[in-house]
Amino acid sequence: DHHSIKPWQRLNHYPEAVRITRKDYLARNLKRMKGAYGSALYEFSPVAFIMPNDYVKFIAEYSKERQSVGRRPSYWICKPVDLSRGRGILIFQDIKDLVYDCTVIVQKYISNPLLISGYKLDLRLYVCVTSFCPLTIYTYEEGLVRFATEKFDLGSLDNVYAHLTNTSINKYGASYKKYKEGIGCGCKWTFSKFRSYLRIFGVDDLLLWQKINNIVILTLLAVTPLPVASNCFELFGFDILIDDKFKPWLLEVNYNPALCLDCSIDDTVKRRLLHDIVELLN
Ligand code: ADP
Repeated sequence: DHHSIKPWQRLNHYPEAVRITRKDYLARNLKRMKGAYGSALYEFSPVAFIMPNDYVKFIAEYSKERQSVGRRPSYWICKPVDLSRGRGILIFQDIKDLVYDCTVIVQKYISNPLLISGYKLDLRLYVCVTSFCPLTIYTYEEGLVRFATEKFDLGSLDNVYAHLTNTSINKYGASYKKYKEGIGCGCKWTFSKFRSYLRIFGVDDLLLWQKINNIVILTLLAVTPLPVASNCFELFGFDILIDDKFKPWLLEVNYNPALCLDCSIDDTVKRRLLHDIVELLN
């Protein structure tokens, strides 16, 4: 497709964009950037180990934590590198619970997420790259806040409805359609609603937005420039988790963010997004 493309055609993927959209490649590229530019700049992604390759390094880190007096051991999340929609994910604290039968990343679990009325949330940010050389990024100002549909509880690590914010999981939860105090029905808000919520509590939403934009730019710089490919663009879905100190963390980058309309919030956000992208490409 890339070779036979006509001047008036557009392709919605860059060859090689997988360098940030596969969980293990992303972890490796961010680690390389950390090494080159310092961990202070690149400390927005939770520490991650690619298994089984990094098994020894993981054990060293795990044991170091266990042996340090007065420090509560971390929680970890294990994710298959090339699956999506929350499939095959496992959260654990004790290594005896870690099991995997394919390449996975084991990442530090953010155990102090920002909660609204006790529910965990993350942000799905839409980022359109129309060129990697020069790097040209359009970040969509509206987006989705995705909620878990059961209250966050570190005492029940296997409850996917309390720990994972994927809509593909939560829409099958018993509480999905119910009215949840402070959240409403369903499992989504728009960014606009989230920003108004933050302002009520005196949180500087512009500063947060700035930090999130920095994460986007620093992540894309990790793979820039990609090999030149004409008439391509990429619509990435960045998953950002905010902790209880309002620090944003990059969880992953999706190369096929869901564009289906599951609810009225999707309708508000995604229709205009698609419209803007078509305008942008023309
Ligand atoms: P997938 O591609 O399967 O959706 P993600 O990396 O997006 O995998 O993880 C799925 C969900 O798990 C996220 O939306 C988030 O709610 C939760 N999650 C993933 N990684 C972490 C982490 N390091 N700390 C806390 N929650 C996480």
